[in-house]
Amino acid sequence: MNSTHPLARQVRGPVLAPADDGYAAETAAFQAGLEQRPDLVVGALDADDVRAAVRHAAARGMPVRVQATGHGVPAASEGGLLINTRRMDGVRVDPAARTVRVQAGARWEQVIAAAAPHGLAPLNGSAPHSGVVGYTLGGGLGLLARQFGYAADHVRALDLVTADGEPRHVTAREEPELFWALRGGRSGFGAVTGLEVGLVPVPRLYGGTLAFDGALLADVLRAYRDWTAGGLPDELTSSVMAIVYPDIPALPEPLRGRHVVQVRVAYTGDAAEGERLVEPLRTVGPRITEKLGDMPYTESPTIHADPTDPHPYTGTNMLLSDLDLAAVTEFAEQGGPGAEFFSVVQLQQLGGALARPPRDGNAVGHRDARYSLSVLSVAAQPEEAAARAFHGRLEEPLKPWAVGRFLNFLFGAVDPGRLREAYEPETWRRLEELREAYDPSGLFRTEAATGS
Ligand SMILES: Cc1cc2nc3c(=O)[nH]c(=O)nc-3n(C[C@H](O)[C@H](O)[C@H](O)COP(=O)(O)OP(=O)(O)OC[C@H]3O[C@@H](n4cnc5c(N)ncnc54)[C@H](O)[C@@H]3O)c2cc1C
Repeated sequence: MNSTHPLARQVRGPVLAPADDGYAAETAAFQAGLEQRPDLVVGALDADDVRAAVRHAAARGMPVRVQATGHGVPAASEGGLLINTRRMDGVRVDPAARTVRVQAGARWEQVIAAAAPHGLAPLNGSAPHSGVVGYTLGGGLGLLARQFGYAADHVRALDLVTADGEPRHVTAREEPELFWALRGGRSGFGAVTGLEVGLVPVPRLYGGTLAFDGALLADVLRAYRDWTAGGLPDELTSSVMAIVYPDIPALPEPLRGRHVVQVRVAYTGDAAEGERLVEPLRTVGPRITEKLGDMPYTESPTIHADPTDPHPYTGTNMLLSDLDLAAVTEFAEQGGPGAEFFSVVQLQQLGGALARPPRDGNAVGHRDARYSLSVLSVAAQPEEAAARAFHGRLEEPLKPWAVGRFLNFLFGAVDPGRLREAYEPETWRRLEELREAYDPSGLFRTEAATGS
């Protein structure tokens, strides 16, 4: 399927132009709402392929994008060169060092499976099929976040090809500026070809979900506020999701077509203590379903049961200094039945280890935030703009408590204004200076958006 393009002679993986067979599959993404039409797509097999692709693009001034799974495609695009890393999916666990080394296209489900036999777990998020690298560069807010912090806090080393086509090994000692920036700053520095990140000794956890009827939305949110304000241990990470489930056979019968408010819990302490900790939530009222219990870490993706099929979506997020019950309830109600767009609202307690930066610091912003509030709507072009306007209206009443944004939960086309809000002004300024220094021609600017 390789084209006759001259770059194909320097690259082992496929090099495809729009007219070539396989082009559509190579440019497809989990995010189905933002079409990418690069002039060339390179299905890299290794770091040498990535380097050849970057050099080719740099010599011709072609903008470069990088994609692993396409969960976080930053924009619809036309032209340029896309590096698809999905074939670079090597995963190697070092049980003694409690680390994993992954290639650029590895997915969390692979790491979960490889780490489990050693009693270890990664700091993955809710979607096991999302990419390790994109998630971690964007901070990485995971199932065990309050106990261990952001995934970015646990990165030991990165391999990066910068805009000059040079490979760089990035660690706290070797390239300290890039090491600081890539962990949370994500885009605009180059193409990451490999990553080494810490694992944690978590073979099992107590957790699951309590699902309530949407009529209890305000009561669930009140209970969640009181519960999370009442000194929960850092070993407990939780969130609330409100959704109007579609009426489809793939869902458990009691949830189909119903407005549901679900509390999701992951607790690494013992099950008896976990039971005791969740008890106050049960006082809210009857549960439609309740699935809580001890599980091996390998089963933890069942807690969120994220969708696995590609679809179009756009979404935004606010980091909050406090949970104002009236404003958050209003936000969740507006995103519920009768909303302009099919939407999912998610509220998550932060704090714990998330508030404590690693010793050497990194670019992850707003560690003082106490809650994250997100909305994600199913919307393809041309409705995306209307969905964004809808999100803007939902957010308005929460502005007094807004301290920033969480990069990984900003979905849909990159919006420079929102992107900046993911960082304190000083952090953003430093990131922009480093982007300018390492990529003066803006080869990778396609993903970082401009600071203007
Ligand atoms: C269903 C769902 C659930 C999610 N749950 C969570 C969650 O619990 N916690 C959380 O923190 N996030 C979560 N996310 C967000 C997700 O982590 C980000 O969208 C992340 O960027 C996805 O990375 P990817 O490689 O899978 O996606 P891609 O779209 O392939 O990559 C996303 C971006 O990452 C950058 N990138 C990827 N690979 C490279 C590379 N090799 N070099 C340089 N840059 C690169 C690029 O900017 C790219 O545009 C979720 C997303 C979805 C859709």
